[in-house]
Amino acid sequence: MELTSLNLSLDALRQTDFPAVAPGGWYDLAIVGGGPAGLTAGIYAARKRVPAVMVTHDLGGQVLWTSSVENYPGYNLVQGRDLVEKFKAQVAQFPIAVAQGQRVARIEPQRGRFRIVTESDVEHFAKAVVLATGKRYRSLGVPGEKELIGRGVAYCATCDAPLFQGKVAAVVGGGNSALTSAGDLLKYAARVYVISNMAALTGDAVLQEPLRKSDKVEFLMNTTVLEIHGTDKVESITFSNNANNQQQTTNVAGVFVEIGLIPNSEPFQDLVDLNQRGEIVVDCACRTSRPGVFAAGDVTTVPAKQIVVAAGEGAKAALSAFDWLARGGPPPAAGG
Ligand SMILES: Cc1cc2nc3c(=O)[nH]c(=O)nc-3n(C[C@H](O)[C@H](O)[C@H](O)COP(=O)(O)OP(=O)(O)OC[C@H]3O[C@@H](n4cnc5c(N)ncnc54)[C@H](O)[C@@H]3O)c2cc1C
Repeated sequence: MELTSLNLSLDALRQTDFPAVAPGGWYDLAIVGGGPAGLTAGIYAARKRVPAVMVTHDLGGQVLWTSSVENYPGYNLVQGRDLVEKFKAQVAQFPIAVAQGQRVARIEPQRGRFRIVTESDVEHFAKAVVLATGKRYRSLGVPGEKELIGRGVAYCATCDAPLFQGKVAAVVGGGNSALTSAGDLLKYAARVYVISNMAALTGDAVLQEPLRKSDKVEFLMNTTVLEIHGTDKVESITFSNNANNQQQTTNVAGVFVEIGLIPNSEPFQDLVDLNQRGEIVVDCACRTSRPGVFAAGDVTTVPAKQIVVAAGEGAKAALSAFDWLARGGPPPAAGG
């Protein structure tokens, strides 16, 4: 493995803002995604002296949407953004190129290499790839949702709850994400509706407790959201009771959509095998169905979508990629 495409100064790399990466570079490894899985893969690849590029939309992934983390080893309690800063500072110690603000649109296997192409047509080349693109919020798909995103429709209470000081907001969903959002909103909003199409909440009891104790929270169970109304901003929401189909419209200033997450695997559907949920199928060494392509974290079939699990899988994926490269990597005519 020769040190290709790595002419970045170590001093610059010690900064947490990473220097720009020239397009068209050649690397041994490309890591797609900069959440806990991708960042950890970056640390492991760099420590193995694998010339690598990380191509990512953001640095931090879902941890940026998390207020408090209480289950990452070494910290009793850490804010999501603080944990991301720690990850970034650690990555910055190592010689790895970090191409931020780039969304990979597709990866083309070519003779002995992979061509990584972003949505803005920037390309990078690598002999092996680690896919670590995680998950994103699922949308409701009702009229008004798309039109009012950022104008009252939100997917991240950690980020946006303070905007609803003294206002009425609805959280759609009944799982852990929805209950966490309702808990975040409780600190600011005058009233919070929790709307779920299930008969009972599925989120943890520990998250339900403070909501049930608050007289600001109203649970609308067995209820389906039909439409979000508003011209410049969210004004009201219409929902229907699943039992009697009775419709109701209620004034709200915000609607937080918290109905689960879906894997960011669309760009790779022709590259590697996915399961029915769209997750990348991996074995216990993070190998996918295509030699030279490894995957880690929430985008994969590995159960338990957690920061520590994603970080561990990122380490495994990088080490598997290192091993594959050390054994000779792609045969000259392979990969296609
Ligand atoms: C609200 C919330 C609270 C949570 N709280 C906790 C908690 O307390 N403890 C815990 O352990 N876990 C928690 N989790 C789960 C945890 O955050 C995830 O399991 C973890 O972040 C997964 O890491 P990942 O690297 O696999 O994916 P992600 O964190 O999703 O990161 C994916 C990365 O890939 C990038 N990306 C996506 N698509 C592309 C593309 N096409 N091209 C380039 N880059 C792309 C993204 O920008 C991002 O950088 C929480 C999740 C949420 C949503």
